[in-house]
Amino acid sequence: MPRPIEALLHPDALASNLQVARRHAGDARLWAVIKANAYGHGIERIWPGLLGADGLAMLDLDEAQRVRNLGWRGPVLLLEGCFEPRDLELCSRLNLWHVVHHETQIDWLAAHKTHQPHRVFLKMNSGMNRLGFTGAHLRSAWTRLNALPQVDEISLVTHFSDADGPRGIAHQVAAFHAATHDLPGERSLSNSAAILRHAEAADVRADWVRSGILSYGSAPDFPEHDIAHWGLAPAMTLRSRLISTQTLQPGDTVGYGSRFRAEHPMRIGIVACGYADGYPRHAPTGTPVLVDGVRTTTVGRVSMDMLAVDLTPVPLAEVGSEVTLWGNGPDGSVLPIDEVAHAAGTIGYELMCALALRVPVRVV
Ligand code: PLP
Repeated sequence: MPRPIEALLHPDALASNLQVARRHAGDARLWAVIKANAYGHGIERIWPGLLGADGLAMLDLDEAQRVRNLGWRGPVLLLEGCFEPRDLELCSRLNLWHVVHHETQIDWLAAHKTHQPHRVFLKMNSGMNRLGFTGAHLRSAWTRLNALPQVDEISLVTHFSDADGPRGIAHQVAAFHAATHDLPGERSLSNSAAILRHAEAADVRADWVRSGILSYGSAPDFPEHDIAHWGLAPAMTLRSRLISTQTLQPGDTVGYGSRFRAEHPMRIGIVACGYADGYPRHAPTGTPVLVDGVRTTTVGRVSMDMLAVDLTPVPLAEVGSEVTLWGNGPDGSVLPIDEVAHAAGTIGYELMCALALRVPVRVV
């Protein structure tokens, strides 16, 4: 028998989550953001769920090549553009749209010999201070690009830093508008949090929205809202089984470092899942988990291949009982990945992306 852990992928959930994004986005077209191998899900594995998007956005040329190999003829956008001059050749060959966020990339374009003109998304740094031209430099970058025969279309893009938080987006929208209002071209501003929370404004929806984390069934503004609030469903389930049980007496401890001490007699279950599977090692005692669809919590430290759970709420649980680490449990139960991430002091993005190679994956 193989070790009883597996990840289940749900392309139908991905497709329906993209429809949620579409409903919020009105007439705007929808990029499905599939960087980091579709946020850890695997582009090829989750592929049918992506087909409702209008375009696919990622970072790596390798991922762009893969979606073309899968037969995608629609728009493909490189969100960070080219990393070196020779990338431009492949952009032409694969007909990719690419972000230009730095003068160096304009230099590369100017020196590039191409028969096929490029469509670029000029990136404005409207406050994130990661990539892009500030308002003071955007216009000169636009003018340079506009003069290049290598470029036939210039669109405009910016990225929000606080669409999920109290600071919001108004200051960045205002900066973007001030710098771009009289420039032609399509625009893209919103990530998942902006799509769900701020897309009532036409200038925020703009021409294209970029749906990342929400597509995979994680609420970008958790814990303020959860996936049920937004009508989203998990695109990934991580599940395992109990491989042992123990009965503890008061004073008994569990696991490395004896981090959990029983105060009264209790049963615990040992689950075949640890940090080498991608479960967060920093998940403390009290992190939620489902056993046979019933909510309980972890106890003690997560080890490489195992973790322990409190069986008090599930007295009938035995070796072989199903354990849902996140995603869909039996009988319609759901444990959102955001709850696990929150308990472990991280975000759903990180858990999805960290699913370990050794975990067998099934598409259901
Ligand atoms: N657009 C850009 C430029 C990004 O870097 C990202 C992800 O970090 C996204 C869109 C998607 O963000 P989210 O997953 O929060 O929707």
